[in-house]
Amino acid sequence: MQQVRTPFSKALDTAVRGALAYLDGLDTSPVGATAGLDDLRARLGKPLNDASINADDVIAQLLRDVDGGIVGSAGGRFFAWVIGGSLPAALAADWLTSAWDQNAALYACGPAAAVVEEVAGSWLKELLGLPASASFAFTTGCQMAHVTCLAAARHSLLTARGWKIEEDGLFGAPPVRVLTSDQRHGSVDRALRLLGLGTQQMRFVAVDEDGRMRIDALETALLDADSTPTILLLQAGDINTGTFDAFSEAIALARRYGAWTHVDGAFGLWAAASPRYRHLTDGVAGADSWSTDGHKWLNVPFDCGYAFIRDAESHRASMSHRAAYIAPDAQARDQIDWNPEWSRRARGFPTYAALRQLGRDGVAALVDACCDRAAELVRAIGELPGAEILRHPIIDQGLIRFRSPALGASDEDHDVWTDAVIAEIAATGATFFSGSTWRGRRVMRVSVVNWSTSSRDVRVAVDAIASVLRRRL
Ligand SMILES: *Cc1c(COP(=O)(O)O)cnc(C)c1O
Repeated sequence: MQQVRTPFSKALDTAVRGALAYLDGLDTSPVGATAGLDDLRARLGKPLNDASINADDVIAQLLRDVDGGIVGSAGGRFFAWVIGGSLPAALAADWLTSAWDQNAALYACGPAAAVVEEVAGSWLKELLGLPASASFAFTTGCQMAHVTCLAAARHSLLTARGWKIEEDGLFGAPPVRVLTSDQRHGSVDRALRLLGLGTQQMRFVAVDEDGRMRIDALETALLDADSTPTILLLQAGDINTGTFDAFSEAIALARRYGAWTHVDGAFGLWAAASPRYRHLTDGVAGADSWSTDGHKWLNVPFDCGYAFIRDAESHRASMSHRAAYIAPDAQARDQIDWNPEWSRRARGFPTYAALRQLGRDGVAALVDACCDRAAELVRAIGELPGAEILRHPIIDQGLIRFRSPALGASDEDHDVWTDAVIAEIAATGATFFSGSTWRGRRVMRVSVVNWSTSSRDVRVAVDAIASVLRRRL
């Protein structure tokens, strides 16, 4: 059979070869970047060409010029931040998403894209144990999911006080306060800034030993100015420790005081998909809105987040620019009514493919495996000389500190030492971790969110850390 050649074939063939070389090389290539900033600028910072270049040559040159500047975050020994890899079906569907190039704003622009999003949205609610009647949006990430959810919260709270936020804006509106804690993720602050609520509206509720919001302190905060429109922000999976708030109690309180509860569950909400870890999310379904990510624990390529909102009408009213109510059974789901964007990527395809590849059991197995590998990593690193376990993983995140061997070393010395060890571990190329500040001290985060991380990866990483500590001690 003769192969059809289109203007795309050569460039795409080159891209496939380059992609497979990267993916197949993940196990043997250095995990961190090996090219420096000057190096990358020198190679990539060409003068803008006047004449056109063959598409195929553009891709071939790009592959050469980025060499050493692509981090191995898609592989199994990358444990920094909270960065998932890509499931094979999700990546393939993501390529098709680009090839099809649908504008997923309206059903009319991409009927299959709209239906796939509708179906995947329902599957996600089912997996995460959220109300089937909740509305949803596929966003660029969890931060924009916060924006989407909190826009609905703002609408609901202010409408109840007779304020038409979409028409009159926030000038002169009743102030909205946000109850959160000093353990919140920074994306919350940015979402509040974008919505005009401002970070000054945050009130910090005390947390317990594990970083969980204290219920007595929450009640005191709610009692204080209980007529003020209030958003309560809870966490399913603290960024450093993976801690879950006490949802049942906190949400019951918030309801009593008419507050809107939003849950930041960027990665932790996925615990609900595992029978082993589901209990951590008990009561979470009682909240008013939930944000999570596809590009973290579900291992969908960047970028992909999800917003879920109990009150679909508030959600729609805050996002749609059209009639506030269109009979749902008379119309297809136009994504523009639920999303902050106008034109947008058909973000549903990779999620649909990821969920089909894994199935319900596969998602649970992915969550469990990451938690198991995180526990193995933290336990094994903790046994090395000079390493101290600060937090055993509750789910897939743990905290390690490296102690300086200097006589009479201070906390500051341990901070400097910890950062130096993290940098040296990265320099081995065998694995990659990131640092963080937790309770005022520098720590190394152990974060496992990749479907492909194996017990062998854990052993290789621990060996690399052991060799760094041997050298330094
Ligand atoms: C990553 C993360 C976010 C932000 O998510 P993005 O997808 O990067 O926008 C918010 N909260 C928590 C707990 C996170 O881990």
